[in-house]
Amino acid sequence: MKLLVCPVCKSTEIEFDAGGYTGKYFCKNCGYVGSFVIEMTEEEYKELTKQ
Ligand SMILES: [Zn+2]
Repeated sequence: MKLLVCPVCKSTEIEFDAGGYTGKYFCKNCGYVGSFVIEMTEEEYKELTKQ
């Protein structure tokens, strides 16, 4: 299963903007709207967020 990750804040709180109608994504965490988000596996996400 792939996670959608915000390129700005690295949150996974990503939803389709306007129900997917515009083909863009919306980040509920920082308000980012755009057609680009990062797709990664849970493993990759754990690596990314590991401090
Ligand atoms: Zn964000």
